[in-house]
Amino acid sequence: MTETDPATRLRSSCELYLPGDPGYDAARTPWNLSVDLRPAVVAVPRTVEEVADLVGDAGRAGLRVAPLSTGHGVGPLAEQDLDDVVLLRLSELSGVSVDPVARTARVIGATPWRDVVAATAEHGLTALHGSAPDVALPGYVLSGGLSFYARRHGLAAGSVRAVELVTADGELVRADATEHPDLFWALRGGGAANFGVVVAIELDLLPYADVYAGMLLWDRERAPEVLAAWAAWTRTAPETATTVLRVLSLPPLPQLPPFLSGRDLVIIDGAVLEDDEHAASLLAPLRALEPEIDTFGRIPAAELLDVHLDPPGPTPAVSDHTVLGPLDDAALAALLGQVGPGTSSGLTVTEVRHLGGALARPGPAGGALSALPGDYSVFCIATAPTPEAAGPARQAAATVVAALAPWSVPGLVATFTERRVQASRLVDGEDWARLAALRDRYDPARRFVPNHAL
Ligand SMILES: Cc1cc2nc3c(=O)[nH]c(=O)nc-3n(C[C@H](O)[C@H](O)[C@H](O)COP(=O)(O)OP(=O)(O)OC[C@H]3O[C@@H](n4cnc5c(N)ncnc54)[C@H](O)[C@@H]3O)c2cc1C
Repeated sequence: MTETDPATRLRSSCELYLPGDPGYDAARTPWNLSVDLRPAVVAVPRTVEEVADLVGDAGRAGLRVAPLSTGHGVGPLAEQDLDDVVLLRLSELSGVSVDPVARTARVIGATPWRDVVAATAEHGLTALHGSAPDVALPGYVLSGGLSFYARRHGLAAGSVRAVELVTADGELVRADATEHPDLFWALRGGGAANFGVVVAIELDLLPYADVYAGMLLWDRERAPEVLAAWAAWTRTAPETATTVLRVLSLPPLPQLPPFLSGRDLVIIDGAVLEDDEHAASLLAPLRALEPEIDTFGRIPAAELLDVHLDPPGPTPAVSDHTVLGPLDDAALAALLGQVGPGTSSGLTVTEVRHLGGALARPGPAGGALSALPGDYSVFCIATAPTPEAAGPARQAAATVVAALAPWSVPGLVATFTERRVQASRLVDGEDWARLAALRDRYDPARRFVPNHAL
């Protein structure tokens, strides 16, 4: 690296790390430890002004900018050449304010859902958060966002009221229904990093102080009957029920509770937005299978973040994903043939999320992505603790997805698409063309590096 290198010239702006600097490796490491990002510079702004300055400075130095909040979903960035890229980590930019009367929250930078839900819970409110407490809003909400409230209330992107972002010319812009409405449309599902660095999101809240939620757990030996019962149950389940079935093969680890450590399991979890009696009667056919553990019951809404038992901290994992139509007997047999009793697929988690309901209905005032195709989202996760393990782990996930191909429908759920795809697979064709035109307008020089190309 010489003084004439663009990365070196950038050194005058906010907190920066260049290759070789102490702290570069820590700063470039995302939540997903299997993702190896090697940017020219890592920048860690502490204020919105620093973000704006950095975007301007990077442009003048001939560098592109890739925003990152937590690094849960940055696999597609690692597939791209980052030699001329500033990785802009927003982890130091956070804060939440709640307006209980308007039932909205304004969330700054990379604030994790844990903090957002804690703040809204003080007012008996909650939001369309996902399963993990440490995911942040920009990547999740602006890529769609699938919550345990989803079949009743739709994608989290539909709850966004306004987005504040720094655009390619270093300007701070607010996009909502009246200011920059075209940008507001694009940001809700069109790949926010195509348009700028998001520094705040304002969103509508839900009036739930508590919720009927929990999990049912069996040994994987019971997977054939549990999977068949759940598939049948989801065919008639009301929109108030959003559930997920997972097959897990967990290694023996001291940090796992004994009911998980070293075990092969099948788990159904989720939320049922009904009163206790009605929720219990809806769940009765699943409970009739006598789970080893049953935690379903009324809990404070903030505790819904603990139900899915997502990893408590950074984890090395690779994945593959597909969306399925109706699950017939042959589809169930194909899935069980891969991850059912007696198999060893190499996957840690195979997750089947029930879609449909409000998720299937495009919102009239929605953004670029306001509905999802298909009936079930499948997300296959394999742990990859070393770079050498990543190839076989990826192959294991791809094998399960390939076995389900006869039941796959076109389209993908963006938040579960951890490899780089054409954005036309994530949004409708016409919308894709409109997004591409908007990108030409807002970022003509392609200064921002998104996960998926428009
Ligand atoms: C354990 C776990 C649980 C999950 N649970 C769910 C779930 O329940 N439902 C669901 O839908 N998804 C879920 N996901 C997927 C998750 O929503 C995505 O990985 C999402 O991208 C994470 O959001 P983030 O803001 O932390 O993004 P990051 O991983 O930091 O960034 C991902 C991408 O988002 C864009 N981006 C991030 N920040 C900004 C910004 N400030 N400005 C512009 N663009 C930005 C960039 O393109 C970036 O490459 C889960 C993932 C994990 C690992």
